[in-house]
Parts: sequence; structure tokens; C-alpha cells
Amino acid sequence: MPTSTSNIFCRVNRRRPCRICGKPDWCVFVRDETLSVCMRVSDGARKINRHGGAIFFHDGWREDKPAGVRVVADLPQSPIAPVEIRDFVYGKLIEISPATLYPGALIANEKGLLARGLSERHFGDYGGLPAGSSERDRIARLLLREASDQFSGSDLLRGVPGFWEDRRGAHLWKPKDYLLPRLLIPVRDGSGRIRACQMRMPFAAKKGLRYLWLSSSDLPHGTGSGSPLHFKFRFADLPRDAWIVIVEGVLKADVLSALRPELYIVATPCVTANHDALVELTRGRFVWIGFDQDHYSNETVCFHLASLVARRLRREMTLATTRIASWDASVKGIDDAAVRNLPITSISIQHWLDRLSPRFRQIAMMRLSEIAEVPLRTKNK
Ligand SMILES: [Zn+2]
Repeated sequence: MPTSTSNIFCRVNRRRPCRICGKPDWCVFVRDETLSVCMRVSDGARKINRHGGAIFFHDGWREDKPAGVRVVADLPQSPIAPVEIRDFVYGKLIEISPATLYPGALIANEKGLLARGLSERHFGDYGGLPAGSSERDRIARLLLREASDQFSGSDLLRGVPGFWEDRRGAHLWKPKDYLLPRLLIPVRDGSGRIRACQMRMPFAAKKGLRYLWLSSSDLPHGTGSGSPLHFKFRFADLPRDAWIVIVEGVLKADVLSALRPELYIVATPCVTANHDALVELTRGRFVWIGFDQDHYSNETVCFHLASLVARRLRREMTLATTRIASWDASVKGIDDAAVRNLPITSISIQHWLDRLSPRFRQIAMMRLSEIAEVPLRTKNK
């Protein structure tokens, strides 16, 4: 929890278990009992926080409290547009405003596309969201015309996350001017269509957030993006016996795929998001999980990785088809390993458990027994 709000949050314990999942650990609640943040159950939650905790409000919740939790006012929202329209609008947006318009800010800089390991032939796949709101408004008007020519209808940007409208017309992103443009990264489905876009911030924002969804969920007639999976292969072309590599981070998946085009890669936007969709997608399939290696040092990441492994186990009834991708331990991300041309291999779940510190192994075992209800043996060390 952020330190500024930690004084009002309490950890659950045996005497006061979580009101959502009933467990005595990991989850937190607000001292006055108006809100719970559950780490295990997200169905019915108002919002998911950046630690993967699901926020639930209880009776007695008032919109003006507690501090530290942002509440979205009731605004008219549009249902999400069909994927064909989203794909068309986002594709045109990238065409009209490509990242290549801003080579200094988005391509050649320290954390730009070039430094990440991409080359010239990939730059056109990305957009550049202009810093000025009037320029973004101009693009929104242009896109509205393009979409009206392509599809029938007049308000075709409605329901496309990132776009919203008021009496003055259609807008793209927030009504603010920024200092720098932002990289737009398309998030594609298993047929190659753009479902949503992520934005890369020019600097890490205060909570370390580097990526945001292009969303308009808190703007009039806007729409939230959800957090869809990003495919680097056509699902129809996936061989039955192929290993699917799960990566955390959309751009990371793009980089890995550019360097190792033989891999079947799918990205989850972050380690906590969309485990349901991952488990469904990989049903009856072989999986390598290639999350950043901080699951050896960050308890929350270990918790979520173990949750995904456990859900795979519950669905597949075996751990043999799930492996943890492995590379030089001094390199955090699988994409960095590929950029440095390091070998990428995999280890079994048992081997992964054996590598964890005793505390982390306990966390992983707790998730496996909670979710998969299978008692596992670990080697005594
Ligand atoms: Zn809970």
C-alpha cells in the first residue's frame, strides 16, 4: 500500500479475516470497515488496484472518504464498440500519427523503440499521441470522418476507448496539454485486430507506472479499455503441440517476438491481469511463463505467478504442461535476455519451487493448495 494511505488500511488476520475471500492473510481493509481490498477474489469488485487487489465497498461507504482512493463520478459511458470498428480507428490513428513523427521522443531516446531492441521495420507499428489537446481533437475529427466513410453511422468513435465527446464534438484522451508525445502500442487479438492501445509515459509517473491504457472511462460518453491479452501469433495457426510463452507487458512481447519470431507469444498487460483469459486460452496447451525474474525477490509477484500456476494446475490437472521460462538471473526481463542474445530455457514447477527462498516457497505452496487444492511435496533442503 502507498505509505500516505497505509495508516487507514489494516491487514486481515485470523481474528479479522477478509470479508471477501474469508482468508486471514494478504488482503487489507479500511479501519472503518467501509472498504476491502481482496487479493484473491475479483468478481464483483469496483476496481483493481495496481497490486492486483480487488477493491470492494461495503455498507457505510461514502464517496467523500476515505482518503487515497479515487472514486469515479457517475458519467454517461458508452458500451465498447465492436472490435472491427476499434481495429479500424486505432489502425488509422497510428497511420495518421505514427511514432516516426517524433523520432527524438519515441524512437531514438534512452528508452525509445531502438534502445528496446526494435528496428526500423517495426517503427511503423506504433503511434505517437500528440502532446497538445487541440492536435488530438483534430485527429479525432479526422478519424470520425474516416470511420463514417468506412462504416455507416455518425457517432462511430463512441465506444472506442480513448475517445469521448461533449457539445464541442469528439475528443481523444484527456483535455490537457502535455510536454511530450506518448508512444501508442496496439494490443492485438488472436486474429491480429487491434482491440485497445496502451500508452507509454515519457517518464515513470509517481507510483512507478510507466504504461497506461488509452481509455476514456472517466470522461463523458467515454469507454474503458479493459485489459485484454496481446497476441503475437494468429490463434488459427497455432500448432497443437506448440509451447505458448506468456510474457508480462505488451511492448516486451513485441520485442521478444521481433527477436525470436519462432515463439508463440501472448502478453498479459501486467502480472495480475486477466488470469481467467490466460487459463482459457491455454487450455490443453503447453505453456512457458516468462514473467520478469522479480518473482524471486518480490512477494507480490511471486504470489501472482503462483496463482497463475495454480489455476493452470486446477484446469489441466497436471503441472507437466506448465513451465517457468528461465534465463541469466542478472537480467530481469525475457526481452532483455533476447536483446543480449542469452539462451532462454525453462524449468519445471517443482524446480522453480525448489529455487525459491523458504518464505517465497511458502507463499507459492499456499496459493497452490488454496486454488488447486492439491497438496504438493517439496524437497526438504
Ligand atoms: Zn480476500
